[in-house]
Amino acid sequence: MNKLFEEAASVIDQIESRGFEAYFVGGCVRDYCLDRPIKDIDIASSAKPEEIQRIFPKTIPVGIEHGTVIVRYNQVSYEVTTFRKEDKYEDFRRPSKVWFVTDLEEDLSRRDFTFNAMAMNKNFELIDPFNGREDLKRQQIRTVGKPEQRFSEDPLRIMRAFRFMSVYGMRIEEKTKLALKNNAPLLKRISTERITVEFKKMLEGEMAGKALQLMQDCGVFPYMPYPLEEISEGSFLSFDWSSLESEEQRWAAVIVLTKVDDERDFLKQWKLPNKVIQSVLTILSSYKKTGWTKMDLYTTGLTSVLSGLRLRCLIQDESYEEQERKLKHLADEIIIQSRDEIPLNGEDILQIKQESPGVWVGQLFQELEKEIVEGKLPLSEREIRDWVRRWGKQ
Ligand code: ATP
Ligand code: MG
Repeated sequence: MNKLFEEAASVIDQIESRGFEAYFVGGCVRDYCLDRPIKDIDIASSAKPEEIQRIFPKTIPVGIEHGTVIVRYNQVSYEVTTFRKEDKYEDFRRPSKVWFVTDLEEDLSRRDFTFNAMAMNKNFELIDPFNGREDLKRQQIRTVGKPEQRFSEDPLRIMRAFRFMSVYGMRIEEKTKLALKNNAPLLKRISTERITVEFKKMLEGEMAGKALQLMQDCGVFPYMPYPLEEISEGSFLSFDWSSLESEEQRWAAVIVLTKVDDERDFLKQWKLPNKVIQSVLTILSSYKKTGWTKMDLYTTGLTSVLSGLRLRCLIQDESYEEQERKLKHLADEIIIQSRDEIPLNGEDILQIKQESPGVWVGQLFQELEKEIVEGKLPLSEREIRDWVRRWGKQ
């Protein structure tokens, strides 16, 4: 039995011993049924947040108004949420009010897809009023209740459907797919941050190519934070997305395939962190470049260079190994990794040259670095000093 669940069962035990109901719910039940690794455990309970806070000595009130408290138990966090039902969705934001209900089934009925609307008691007996288990077996994504209504009340579910499709390799049931198509324009009203979270998870799935193709077919592309151009049939499926190695490489793949003009603007519109943006841009420049010199490799860094190369080989169906071998060989010949390894600093240089400080010191350093990287000057202090003495004199 999964260790996480075993510990969590004792959390449920304690809630029950005070006369309340408590069940595992959401993603952990779905992943348990699929025999996939469990990330975190969510619990739904008839106990109100204050009651949960009274039962457990360590709690964190993360969203009391939504009925959620984090319980810290044996160094693990559990999100415990009171059975609830959501108020009307206003402005397509999260519901403004939640109502606590006494019934588990009512809580489950507000959830998005049948396989996300299952609960499990501490003895691992499934409570599955919408036949989520059956849908998992049939590998189909189906909304709880009427799909038109469920997508229009929260269009983020459209993105979630593609995410689950990609991650679990499922297909979207026909009525659900039709409703998703009809409601795609409503995605305009969803905040970029929420869309990005789901899109990113979608890109990480093994079937990202298929999901992207279906997103295009369902007319979702124009409503993305940076509208995506449609591409020719099958191009998303021309390589195996699961062989991509990082989030940054996946974003770069989307940019290349959909022929984005302004790459930086694209990444900004999706509100990605600056660090991610920088690294995607570096991969993209490596993607386009051929004919690497030692200095290019040194400034870009081998990892990013290989990441861009790998992407190009996948998308353009070139062979990777030989090019990788050559680049690694070239990188091995570079005797420093950074400027810090040069055994001379600015002070030393001023002393050798007996001149007053100025921009020339920076220029000298840049040239010195290049000489060393290109293998024209060994990393010997004596020879470097000689080189510095000669600098500017020819
Ligand atoms: P993950 O494994 O990525 O955490 P998850 O299904 O647990 O996937 P969460 O966003 O953590 O996804 O949501 C937890 C649960 O809350 C879902 O399983 C689902 O039951 C419900 N849920 C989440 N988002 C929505 C939504 N937009 N509409 C309805 N129910 C939702
Ligand atoms: Mg979750």
